[in-house]
Amino acid sequence: NKQVIFAKIPTTYPVPGEHIKVEDSAIDLDAPLAEGSFILKLLALSVDPYMRGRMRDASIESYLPAFPLGKPMTGDTMNVVVKSNNPNFKEGDLVYGKTACGIFSEYSVITKELEPYFEVRNDPKETGLPITNYVGVLGMPGMTAYVGLLKFGAPKKGETLYVSAASGAVGQLVGQIGKTLGMYVTGSAGSDEKVEYLKEIGFDAAFNYKKVDNLTEKLKEVCPKGIDVYFENVGGQMLEAVIDNMNKFGRIVACGMISQYNREKPEGIHNLMQVVAKRLRIEGFIVGDSVEMIEPFRKDMTQWLLEGKIKYRETVADGIDQTPYALIDVLNGRNFGKQVVNVANL
Ligand code: NDP
Repeated sequence: NKQVIFAKIPTTYPVPGEHIKVEDSAIDLDAPLAEGSFILKLLALSVDPYMRGRMRDASIESYLPAFPLGKPMTGDTMNVVVKSNNPNFKEGDLVYGKTACGIFSEYSVITKELEPYFEVRNDPKETGLPITNYVGVLGMPGMTAYVGLLKFGAPKKGETLYVSAASGAVGQLVGQIGKTLGMYVTGSAGSDEKVEYLKEIGFDAAFNYKKVDNLTEKLKEVCPKGIDVYFENVGGQMLEAVIDNMNKFGRIVACGMISQYNREKPEGIHNLMQVVAKRLRIEGFIVGDSVEMIEPFRKDMTQWLLEGKIKYRETVADGIDQTPYALIDVLNGRNFGKQVVNVANL
């Protein structure tokens, strides 16, 4: 039974085999199950940027607990019940391991106390959508795009939206939701191929930030009317250049700042006085707080996908052994679209 283990706290970029290891552990699938317990077989898992933040010393507080050293990592997963002594989880049910709770282990015994962290989600059997979608576009990253733009962006028709890390799991959806609202949608990504994809899925303008010397000037060109809503995924110099281009009363939805996650010292932002002068609103959010939006999100996003209104690109790594590499790829921008790991087929 292979498991993905958090082995050592990194100071910069984590290294597979050093900070994250895949190790074998014994599990007796034939042992009798206590009342309320069930056994899950892992089908798909999601690797996400926030996991880097959990690879820290447990004494440092943040919005999610640190990963315990020497234990399996956790995150969004899709599983199938292979054995059960719990009437709520029947053999053959598909089960979503909720954000930060699904266990990165090929098999796991879930005891009664852990039940609230798992949810029967047989939807793929009805929709025919890939199981990997349920840890991505129909899971936490999809919900992040939906909540972030609709609840915190206060978007209006005709306004300019700018999205960084725009081809990623969250970014590609933010842009497409913006288009459904009638916004002028712009974005940046780290390769020409990614920029091409953004144009294919309806972004009005997009650029490869790695080829730009002066980000402030580039944003002026790409967003000629200025930026009304900035969906912030990156932080650092990008944020500084965006502030220079924000319109009065603009909103900066602070979703994440991935450019800072592997730095020992964060970069400074030097033009924050403009927040006052331009009456900007910068608001951070954590997706898990907006539980009231889970149902509308699932309904809307499933419908948009089935109708082909929203396109979604994934990079699927094959096998649990690939998990450490898949996570490091996300932190280095080697993923194209949502990075998931297909652990086993149904
Ligand atoms: P992505 O699929 O977008 O993958 C991360 C991407 O970030 C990479 O592909 C890369 O794209 C870009 N990137 C990596 N390093 C850098 C860097 N140094 N500078 C600029 N860009 C970089 O990830 P997600 O869509 O899952 O996450 C996007 C953001 O949303 C992250 O900041 C994440 O932390 C945040 N998030 C926040 C949540 C919340 O509740 N607030 C929930 C979920 C995600 P490229 O090739 O374009 O550089």
